[in-house]
Amino acid sequence: METAFYQELTTISLSGELLSDATCDKLLTASNIELLPLLDAAYQVRKTYFQNEVQLHILNNAQNGYCPEDCHYCAQASSASTDIETYPLKPDDEILAEAERAYESGAYRYCVVMSGRGPSPRRVAHLSRLIRTIKARYPIEVCLSAGLVDIESAGILKEAGLDRLNHNLNTSESHYPKICSTHSYQDRMDTLQAAQTVGLACCSGVIVGMGEGTDDLIKVAKELRQLEIASLPVNFFLPISGTQLMETSTLTPDYCLRVLCLYRFLNPRSEIRVAAGREHHFRSMEVMALYPANSMFIDGYLNAKGSVASHTLQMIRDAGFAVKTKGDNTEQLKEEESEKRDVLLKELKVLRPRLESDA
Ligand code: SF4
Repeated sequence: METAFYQELTTISLSGELLSDATCDKLLTASNIELLPLLDAAYQVRKTYFQNEVQLHILNNAQNGYCPEDCHYCAQASSASTDIETYPLKPDDEILAEAERAYESGAYRYCVVMSGRGPSPRRVAHLSRLIRTIKARYPIEVCLSAGLVDIESAGILKEAGLDRLNHNLNTSESHYPKICSTHSYQDRMDTLQAAQTVGLACCSGVIVGMGEGTDDLIKVAKELRQLEIASLPVNFFLPISGTQLMETSTLTPDYCLRVLCLYRFLNPRSEIRVAAGREHHFRSMEVMALYPANSMFIDGYLNAKGSVASHTLQMIRDAGFAVKTKGDNTEQLKEEESEKRDVLLKELKVLRPRLESDA
């Protein structure tokens, strides 16, 4: 592909214009796309709005399982047979202790996630009290993911100091019936619109690799742009055994990076998060995700393990990026930085395996 093609992607994105569907599709599928110029083009956009900073998120799976919904990709769904550790909402002191850990790990945002269709009024009042306490104790942003939320509940949460409400669109409207039957795409849109009506910033994204076509990914990216979503997680489907959705497309690191670039070009000002599946699908190309994306989870997802925090922090620094923090937790971050790995010496049985087998 000629250099002009990549330059054009940056220019169109920065000028606020929209890439055509044909260009988006070409970017995702054309065999002559070269990864480095594409990443550089996306990086020019990322750099304009977010410099070389990376926002780190930490997830608290505050309630696991017991969900009546049947999202086919989810290990907590009523339809899943995955052997997960289920528990009701964690006690307040546990949620607060994890907020402290999130702050000390350098997280910019603490994401409290709970399973379920949506919170009752009583649960909303409880969460509001918790949000007030966290905000009073730690200079960290709080994001809540609690299922479907109406306008009244959204208003109460906003009043309590919630910074963001997460509710992912996950896939396109036409593909939605293939991934869930207990609620609709429109239900999800209604939650986002309720949040926006009361002035709550929204976090909403996509899951790539659930059997959708490139047109579905393009549609969701454009829908999220229209909604002016502040924070946009791009998840890559993790095939957890026991969920309904096991047969899906094979994701390659190359394709995953192209998707991130597409989302950056179409949502230049959004915080784009390389979210679940980063380690699993990007493999040795993981660090390249930092060029289109400016945000990631520090250490794992809802039911799946991810990197350890020290690895994530090291990767960010090694690539010349800087962690963006809310408060003064530089001391804790320095401690992580000073961690050195010992060089391990080879033992005789490794150096001379023949001797071992002869013995
Ligand atoms: S994604 Fe949320 S609503 Fe859907 S099954 Fe999982 S926990 Fe329930």
